[in-house]
Amino acid sequence: MRVLKHIMAAAIIVVTATVLAGASETPKEHEKAQTDADQVAAPAEPAQPKSKRKGGKKPIAEHARDVAPINTDATVERIIGKDQESAPKKKKTSHKKKKASHATEAHAADSHSTAIPVDAEEAVKRLLEGNRRYIAGKNSSSHRTAQRRAEVAKGQHPFAVIVGCSDSRVPPEILFDQGMGDLFVVRSAGNVIDDIAIGSIEYAVEHLGVQLVMVLGHERCGAVDATLKGGAVGGKLKSVVDAIKPAVEKAKAKAETSPRCDLLCSSVKSNARMVAEKLRKASPVLTDPVENGLLRVIGAYYELDSGLVSLTYKPVL
Ligand SMILES: [Zn+2]
Repeated sequence: MRVLKHIMAAAIIVVTATVLAGASETPKEHEKAQTDADQVAAPAEPAQPKSKRKGGKKPIAEHARDVAPINTDATVERIIGKDQESAPKKKKTSHKKKKASHATEAHAADSHSTAIPVDAEEAVKRLLEGNRRYIAGKNSSSHRTAQRRAEVAKGQHPFAVIVGCSDSRVPPEILFDQGMGDLFVVRSAGNVIDDIAIGSIEYAVEHLGVQLVMVLGHERCGAVDATLKGGAVGGKLKSVVDAIKPAVEKAKAKAETSPRCDLLCSSVKSNARMVAEKLRKASPVLTDPVENGLLRVIGAYYELDSGLVSLTYKPVL
């Protein structure tokens, strides 16, 4: 018994010493420990600004103003992709600056601060530029490398959410010529959304700082076509059809068809628009930034034949 008491007393002393040692950690040590912890932790945890900040860096709010996150050298390079890799050495010498800029962007995104300026416009530009590269067969592979994998393994900072159809012919990363860590993708038949999908999108907006959500319909979508044709649908597929039905009814009522866009096409566009509208009103996490101009939710249409993506629904806010 006495021996046990001795052991316990010794244990208490050790624990106390350990706690004290921790408490006497210098700010730098603490910062390092925190940084290490951040690397281990899930990337999108709400930011802890102080501990993440490294010596001499500006506070987040200032970063957010300075960032103009997407209009940086790094961004331009990402938009243009491989085509610019052989361009001026100037690009190479700015490597450090680019890295810093990316870190700043990441920092700001992690903080999911509402002070971050909306740069949805630039996100759209990136997507459309990528789509042009894809159509032209000039795909960039810069974000599909081992180096990129290592980079994004530390944390993700996608610049757009794509809500797309599960159709095997419309993989967003390919048709927008993007790589790992670029897009946060939610897919379902007919690009319809339920609470789980909405929650996923909320996560990207609130925790990853994404400022653009694109709902992407596509030519000859089977789910929309099935809804349009009616008839019996079994199993849970009925939920998909039921979700698309109002958009089809709206398209029928509007009868906005043309030689280039038949009823199926207009129903697909109507569906993308309806999903985008639903998202805009889905929850405060999405509605508030939309109303404050910090988030844009748009609709788009992908042509299977040409590969072209065009914007079909672009609300001002
Ligand atoms: Zn589809």
